[in-house]
Amino acid sequence: MMRIPVLDELKSLGVEGYLVGGVVRDFLLNPSQPLELTDLDITIAGDAVAVALQIVERSDKFQILETYPNFGTAKLLYNGTLVLDFASTRTESYAGCGSLPQVEQLGVPLSQDVLRRDFTINTLALSLSNLDTVIDTCGGQADLSARTIRLLKPGSFLEDPSRILRALRFAARLGFVWAEDTHDQLDAFLTAIPASYRGGGERIKTELYRFLSLPESSHKVHGLQFFEEKSLYRLLDTRLPPGIRWPELSNRLTILKDRLSAYWTDELTSLIYLSLVFFSFSEAQAVAAAKQLGLTRSETEIVLKSREFALPEQADPGLIYEAFMLMPFASACVGVLLAADFKKAVDTLSYFKANLEGITLETTGDDILALGIPPGEKVGQLLKALRHAKLKGEVRHKIEELAWIQKEML
Ligand code: ATP
Ligand code: MG
Repeated sequence: MMRIPVLDELKSLGVEGYLVGGVVRDFLLNPSQPLELTDLDITIAGDAVAVALQIVERSDKFQILETYPNFGTAKLLYNGTLVLDFASTRTESYAGCGSLPQVEQLGVPLSQDVLRRDFTINTLALSLSNLDTVIDTCGGQADLSARTIRLLKPGSFLEDPSRILRALRFAARLGFVWAEDTHDQLDAFLTAIPASYRGGGERIKTELYRFLSLPESSHKVHGLQFFEEKSLYRLLDTRLPPGIRWPELSNRLTILKDRLSAYWTDELTSLIYLSLVFFSFSEAQAVAAAKQLGLTRSETEIVLKSREFALPEQADPGLIYEAFMLMPFASACVGVLLAADFKKAVDTLSYFKANLEGITLETTGDDILALGIPPGEKVGQLLKALRHAKLKGEVRHKIEELAWIQKEML
C-alpha cells in the first residue's frame, strides 16, 4: 500500500483524482523502496484549476503557486515543501515534428488522457479514492514486469523526438530494454527525419541533460553506446553528420558526381572527403588540424564552410542563389551529401548550376544612384531585390532591369 500523507489529505478533502506519472511507476516497480518525492502529478478528470482553488479554500496546508487556465493546470505547494502538479485530463495534437502539443479537449475520461503519454509504463494511475487498485488501460503493468520500454502508439517519436532521449534515460535508469517495435520506430524515424525538423530545442536539451546526468552505471554506458551507434547527435542538430555513414555517402557521391559531371574534378572529390573527415571535429579542432596538415587558405575555408552549409528551406530561386553563391562549390556538395532529403538537395544544386549561377545583373550601384536614389542601404536592397526578380525570369536585360527599378521607386 502506498503511504504518502498528502494523498490522504486530498482524499479527506473530497478530491477525486488520480496519481499518475513516474511515482506510480517507481512505486509499483519497487514497493518496499522509499519514494523520492520531489513533485507529484495529480490528474483530475474535469477542471483541475477549479479543484486546486477549492483545495486552498478548504485547507491552509496548501498554497497555489501558479495556474494556467488555458492548459487546465495548476501548481500547488503542500506544507511549504512538496510541489503538486495538478492537470486536467486532456487530449493533444501535434502540428509538426518536434513542435509543442496543442490542447484539443479538456476534461476527457482518464483512459483518453493516458494516450498522450510516451511509454506504457508511464500510463499507470492510482485513484486517490482507492490507492490499492492500479488503473492500467495500456498494458503498463505487463511491461513493467517484463522490464520493457514500449511506445504507446505509432508515430510517437515523430510527434516528439525528445521521447527518444526519455526512452534512453528510462532504460538506463531502470535497467529496462526497449520493445522491438520501439526500436523499429526509432529506425523509421532516423531514416526519414522530416525535412522541417531541425533538431534541438528546449525539450531535447532538458531530456539530454536528464539522461547525461544519470549516475554512472553499465546501463548508462550501454545507452551512450547506443546514442553513438544510432548517431543520435542528429536530435541536437539534424545537420550534424549521421556518424558519417561512409558506404551511404560514397553511394551518394557517385550519384552527385554523375549529375554534376560537367563541373566535376578529382580535386573536388578529395576536398569533399577531406571536409567530411573534418566535419565531426569541433571548430577549434578543425582549425588546429587544418594547420597541422598545412592546408591552404582556400582549403581551410572549404572545410570550415562545409560545416555551416544549410540548404534553403524554400524552393525560391533567390534563396537558392544566395545559399550556394556564398559557398565554395565543394562545401555546397558536402551540404548536399549530408542532406536529410538527398534527392531534393541534388536537384536544387544542379538547378543552381544550370540555371542560376550564370545570371548576373547588368545594372550597377552607380546606375541606381543615377536614377536619383541617395547613397545608402536602399541601393543594396534594390540590387538584391532586382537580382531575385532576374533569377525568377521577371527581367531579362539592362533596359528591363532599369524599368523594374523605376517601377519599384514609384
Ligand atoms: P521521473 O521519475 O524521471 O520524473 P516521470 O515519468 O515522472 O519520470 P516526467 O518528465 O516527470 O517523467 O513526466 C511525467 C509524466 O508525463 C510521464 O510519466 C509521462 O506520462 C508524461 N510525459 C512527460 N514527458 C512526456 C513526453 N515528452 N511525451 C509524452 N508524455 C510525457
Ligand atoms: Mg516526474
